[in-house]
Amino acid sequence: MNIKNIEEKYNLIYEELIEDIDTKGYLLNHKKSGAKVIILENDDNNKTFSIGFRTPPSDNTGVAHITEHSVLCGSKKFPLKDPFMELVKGSVNTFLNAMTYPDKTLYPVASTNDKDFHNLMDVYLDSVFNPKMYSNENIFRQEGITFELKDKDDELKYNGVVYNEMKGAFSSSADILDNVINKVLFPDNCYSVNSGGDPEFIPDLTFEDFIKFHKKYYHPSNSYIYLYGDADMESILKWIDEEYLDGFDTEDIDSKIEYQKAFDEEKYVVEEYPIASDEDEKDKIYYTYNVVVGDSLDMELYVAMQALDYALVGMSGSPIERALLNKGIGKNIFSEYSTTLLQPYYSIIAENSGKGLKEEFEETIKSTLKNLVENGIDKKSLNAALNNFEFAYRENDTGSFPKGLLYGLKVYNNWIYDDNDVFRGLKLNKIFEKLKGLVDTGYFEELVKKYFLDNKHLAVIELRPVAGLNSKKEKELKEKLENIKNSLSEKELDDIILKTKELEKYKRTKSTKEELDSLPILKKEDLYKEIPEFPNTFRNIDNVKVLQHNLNTRGIGYLKFLFDITDIPFEYVKYLTLLKAIFSGMDTKKHDYDMLGNEILVNTGALGCNISCYGNKDDIGKYSLMFEITSKFLFDKLDKVYEFMEEIIFETLVEDEKRLYDIVCLEEAETKDKIIDYSDSIAICRCNSYLSAASKIVDECKGVGYYRFIKDAEENFEDKKSEIKENIIKLFKYIFRNDNLLISYTASDKDYEGFEDKTKPIIEKLKENNKYKDLLKNDESNNETNITGLNKNEGIKYPSQVQYVALTGNFKKYGYEYNGKLQVLSSILTNEYLWNNIRELGGAYGCNVSFRANGTVSFSSYRDPNLRKTKEVFENTWKYLRDLEMDERSLTKHIIGTLSRIDIPKSEKRLGDEALDAYLTEISVSTLKERREDILNVTVDDIKGFKDLIKAVTDNSNICVLGNENAIEEAKDILETNFYL
Ligand SMILES: [Zn+2]
Repeated sequence: MNIKNIEEKYNLIYEELIEDIDTKGYLLNHKKSGAKVIILENDDNNKTFSIGFRTPPSDNTGVAHITEHSVLCGSKKFPLKDPFMELVKGSVNTFLNAMTYPDKTLYPVASTNDKDFHNLMDVYLDSVFNPKMYSNENIFRQEGITFELKDKDDELKYNGVVYNEMKGAFSSSADILDNVINKVLFPDNCYSVNSGGDPEFIPDLTFEDFIKFHKKYYHPSNSYIYLYGDADMESILKWIDEEYLDGFDTEDIDSKIEYQKAFDEEKYVVEEYPIASDEDEKDKIYYTYNVVVGDSLDMELYVAMQALDYALVGMSGSPIERALLNKGIGKNIFSEYSTTLLQPYYSIIAENSGKGLKEEFEETIKSTLKNLVENGIDKKSLNAALNNFEFAYRENDTGSFPKGLLYGLKVYNNWIYDDNDVFRGLKLNKIFEKLKGLVDTGYFEELVKKYFLDNKHLAVIELRPVAGLNSKKEKELKEKLENIKNSLSEKELDDIILKTKELEKYKRTKSTKEELDSLPILKKEDLYKEIPEFPNTFRNIDNVKVLQHNLNTRGIGYLKFLFDITDIPFEYVKYLTLLKAIFSGMDTKKHDYDMLGNEILVNTGALGCNISCYGNKDDIGKYSLMFEITSKFLFDKLDKVYEFMEEIIFETLVEDEKRLYDIVCLEEAETKDKIIDYSDSIAICRCNSYLSAASKIVDECKGVGYYRFIKDAEENFEDKKSEIKENIIKLFKYIFRNDNLLISYTASDKDYEGFEDKTKPIIEKLKENNKYKDLLKNDESNNETNITGLNKNEGIKYPSQVQYVALTGNFKKYGYEYNGKLQVLSSILTNEYLWNNIRELGGAYGCNVSFRANGTVSFSSYRDPNLRKTKEVFENTWKYLRDLEMDERSLTKHIIGTLSRIDIPKSEKRLGDEALDAYLTEISVSTLKERREDILNVTVDDIKGFKDLIKAVTDNSNICVLGNENAIEEAKDILETNFYL
């Protein structure tokens, strides 16, 4: 970029070569409007744009969040109802979203296609500066909050997308805890309130205040524009100036984020959180120790804190974890370092604790830390943490996310607080070097003293469980609404009914053709693409098959040892995930488990395991179940990786009952948290487990099935421990053999040299276990997995304020075959039919339907206030298809969107994984080519023709619902069984 060409409109504040990421960075200022601009110029074709605003909220109404949703519901240039969804459908974006943070709101997009990138920027800029929400109150009421009353005799209710989204968020104890910590640590600035909105206060927001908020903050003078990648930056900057910024004059906008003053003395606060009505309150307290740590402009402190986090709390067997567990305080000890605020804070959390332990909790942490300050923190742990953080930083594996997006998020982390050195978050390499040199100097001990012990900005927070708190609050809300209703005059009630009808009409109205045409779309020709062969080279080491993926991984090897355990008797499946936790989590003959963890991180990027069930692409009954050991490392560390593998496989001391119990408790807590965080996919998995053995296995490894096992193991550990130990020992022998082994290795041909020689010894060693091939066979194994055809519509209750409804079935059972066109159908149903009925009309946050080649169809809703109604929407899908009318242009959009999701750029590691996946599921490139052709050639009649397939599935489907206990009780007639999680 030549600054000369844009300097008439923009001031260059400074420029800099950012060596860590090989990128030229510029900080600019738009002269007329005062907008701040950052350019990161390099040769990455995955271009990223973002506009952000400082949006510190002053109350809990969620105004920042509702504004974020609402600006994307139509604008001056793009007056259609939902341009965001139109882009989801019809753009080849590689990222498209918007996010509300505690003090800022970001609108990032990315694309590899220039034309598309331009469209995306145009829609986002017009949305934030010229939104339709000013003139149409229905947008606020749909996205934010509204009274709902269809008939005078009905119950008065609240509804709104953000309202329901936040009800879901406030159903997770982790989110409730975060909310409390912020409130307590930052009583005087914007962090004391929840920018997302607290469902209790969202109804207080008025349309006028909502508009005021946008008026104040969504001005170029308060904006932060970010551009990244291989794009013509000069012409983009000129265009942004002409099209948007030039229309504004600089304004003085008060959006500065104020520092919270430290306290005069530490605080102690008690709050409550809900558990189910019939749940025992015993041992469910969270004790947390929270300190504010410097500010987010200090990158050295940021890196040092990562090392401290690991060495003090994060590593298994850390000093804090041991000290607390030894005293019986908590069953799961973890930490959180929150860094997306001006003042980051650090929390130590003891989950599942008993009553009255607050003093002891605090005292134990303080004395442990004091002891570490006096006697020194373990150097090996600090080095392990620094090494590992540096590995991840250099590897920079962003998965399927654009690199530009993640760099951008790092930049925003301090840019909105300070214009100096805005690229500091992208220059960590030299900090690693410096900190490694400080490990032995007492530097880290000083930090502990300063920020953890002598720090007055400290709060100890106790979060107590209250059985049935949710039901109580629901009752109160019901009464509140009844009172409101009773207090309203006839005229006021008529007015609400009228507005409810108006809103429903708005939700049902589709954008006109002219409105839709305002949004430019690509042509099908723009989507032409060669599909490359999968990078799979078949090799062989002493009769063990090796699948090498020849990709340039820049110095890093990605290794998988896959042990085929498809034949494992079903009763052992539930132990696999526990084994995964035990793997490198228990002492071995050579190392204590904490030291083993350190050794692994000093020498590798990671070493762990995974359980994967690879379903055959066509046949739902066929699958391969693999126990996988995975690792990533610099090439010269391969020997070390094998050393650790051998040590863990052959020398783990499973006999240690105390450690085993700790692991079981930890697993129970973590699994429960995961189920609550991913309730939609957990519900789908459970629902599919009624249909296929493969899904039943996944449920037993990662879903509700596993949770029930691990909960029982925790509660009845004394009775179960011998059985658990025995089975784990058996599994160590049965799984890790070489006659069931497949090796997958992602590295270039050149880097493959020497791999075979280094791998031979471990293969030879694993041969010792081949004699255990039939070890599990003698057991009376009844093949419980043969369950296809059973109906088990389940309701699974937990203290949630919303539902997650899944409905699944299999079309192959009714004689239908898979076709790539079904992927376009998925896009149409998800983004049109379900979106309209479940999100817009129903108020749920999300909805989806997917089709798999093995015949599986999965409908799901996310953070859904409904249950029965959602089931009906799923079941009526065929009627929508029967009556469907769609023009060519709309269909093309869905084709584009479908292909863009397939074509998303991926890291080398991901490409290697996909190649392995293709081999195991028997997908060939020619199949993919056929499917792509199908997608490109789909017609409206094809889509309508799927009506019978859908009807066959939904007429014979199962449902599974996770969510609110009362909602599930009320749906007893459609849920055959129900139980508490
Ligand atoms: Zn949201």
